[in-house]
Amino acid sequence: MSNLPNCPQCNSEYTYEDGSHFVCPECAHEWPLQAEAAAEEKRVVRDANGNELQDGDTVTVIKDLKVKGSSSVVKVGTKVKNIRLVDGDHDIDCKIDGIGAMGLKSEFVKKA
Ligand SMILES: [Zn+2]
Repeated sequence: MSNLPNCPQCNSEYTYEDGSHFVCPECAHEWPLQAEAAAEEKRVVRDANGNELQDGDTVTVIKDLKVKGSSSVVKVGTKVKNIRLVDGDHDIDCKIDGIGAMGLKSEFVKKA
């Protein structure tokens, strides 16, 4: 069993991996591994309970969080509406009443 992709040119299943490329022995087509990886990689952001989060979700903060560069704290139980998922260490962009725009880590929230 292998999970190599079929050849995109002739659909042969006898493809193999050669360094940074896949190679088809039947039609000699070669294509880069990265293209396959990029297509496979769909980023899923999950909350503290492992539930998948999506843009526009409402989440609840499960831990007091200090706001970087200020003395404000986002209290546990704070509801955050209309989140936006982004790439990075803080993978949720949001706006919190009384605090403003900030980034949260998905591991410190749960879906409301
Ligand atoms: Zn082929």
